[in-house]
Amino acid sequence: MKFSLKAKLSLAIALVVLLTVALISFLSNYLIQNQFKGYISSQQAKTAHQIVESISVQYDADTGSWDADFIHTIGMYALYDGYIVKVYDKDGKTVWDAETCDMNLCIQMMDNISHRMMTEYPTINGEFTTKTFPAMQDLTEIGTISISYYGPFFLSEDDFLFLDALNKILVGVGIASLVIAVVTGIFLAKRLSKPLLKTVEVTKDIADGKYGTRILNETGTIEVDQLIDSINHLAESLEKQEALRRKLTADVAHELRTPLATVQSHLEAILEGVWEPTRDRLESCYDEMNRLGSLVSDLERLAKVESDNLKLNKTEVSLRELTEKILGSYEKELEDKNLNVKLSGNCSSISADRDRIGQVLINLISNAVKYTTDGGKIRITLSETEGSVVFHIQDNGIGISEEEIPYIFERFYRADKSRNRNTGGSGIGLAIVKSILSAHGGTIEVESRLNEGSAFMLTLPKSQDDVSLMK
Ligand code: ADP
Repeated sequence: MKFSLKAKLSLAIALVVLLTVALISFLSNYLIQNQFKGYISSQQAKTAHQIVESISVQYDADTGSWDADFIHTIGMYALYDGYIVKVYDKDGKTVWDAETCDMNLCIQMMDNISHRMMTEYPTINGEFTTKTFPAMQDLTEIGTISISYYGPFFLSEDDFLFLDALNKILVGVGIASLVIAVVTGIFLAKRLSKPLLKTVEVTKDIADGKYGTRILNETGTIEVDQLIDSINHLAESLEKQEALRRKLTADVAHELRTPLATVQSHLEAILEGVWEPTRDRLESCYDEMNRLGSLVSDLERLAKVESDNLKLNKTEVSLRELTEKILGSYEKELEDKNLNVKLSGNCSSISADRDRIGQVLINLISNAVKYTTDGGKIRITLSETEGSVVFHIQDNGIGISEEEIPYIFERFYRADKSRNRNTGGSGIGLAIVKSILSAHGGTIEVESRLNEGSAFMLTLPKSQDDVSLMK
């Protein structure tokens, strides 16, 4: 079963308030009743004593007589309050008896009180009990007074009205709190669910490809704001990825168009008989096809490096040993161009993916070879700091102009394109270098001057935490 946040929250708050109010009502009722019972019982004992005292003073010791009128008044007042009084002199003769005075009233009082108490407090098993007190004057016993009242305690009509009013107030407070709780719950839930619903809407838009959509308002709830931030961040990443994908497609199309167009026009001219299929023309077509082939394999390498799921296969790698091996494979090119290469310094082994770091070094070394004119110099220096190793490669080749330096790590970027056409580069090598380095937590810096030479400084941490290749 599914419920909305609003329903859940209002229900939960209402339930908590209901339980709290019920508990408070029950406890206060219980406490009040108990306190009240104790108070009433002691009050009744006091009243009985007061009755005895006020009747005792109605005896005149000199004449040995009782003031019957006063006793009657006191007795009747007591009767209305629920006390049936009987006064006897010291010989046991009745002086005043409520029952003989007004039997009907006595019975009616007793019935009223018994009925009220039986219905409201059936558990106390109360009944009318009679207590006899000695009537004293100046330490002499002048008679006895018996008082009957409902015990262990009884409540007058006013007492009941008071308790009733109290209960009603408690119920009223309970209902009012419940209403306030439900209203507050609905209000709170609305405030919470509104931004969530908005977020759901925006997420749907993003899923539909509207990557530019953002959630703007701050809600003031930390968790909801965090969710909004994550979704905005997600949308931003998707937007960037999408832009990258479009740019890549456009770049690839652009890169393919030139060699394809050249080959196409050459072949057309040959087929139509406009051109003789000379060796030179066929070689030019062959060169373009070669360029296309290397572009496609570069693209494949880039895709492999940048694929999300690529995992680094880390082992102990010695940069010195790796560099020597790569330089060995470049022996022929170096000889052909009469390049002077020197490798100096050393550094500790690092934990890295040997093949990929090898790819980085190959790209840097092959660039240095490619962009250094015949008879030039290439210097490779290895060093280390506390936490990282440094690979420094410097050449005195054609260099890169200051304006172009910021772009050389972008895919397909080739400085001064026409000049590089004959080097066969596709502008992907340094993009691959950057991608692999960021996966290893490393960095690359470049310093270059046009016609003077370039220096690339690669820094790799000695041990790295896993970092995603798509940084
Ligand atoms: P490419 O396949 O064209 O060499 P890269 O991504 O490796 O592609 O390099 C991008 C561009 O940076 C090159 O086209 C070149 O203009 C410039 N570049 C890279 N390395 C050097 C270097 N050592 N000397 C001069 N220019 C360089």
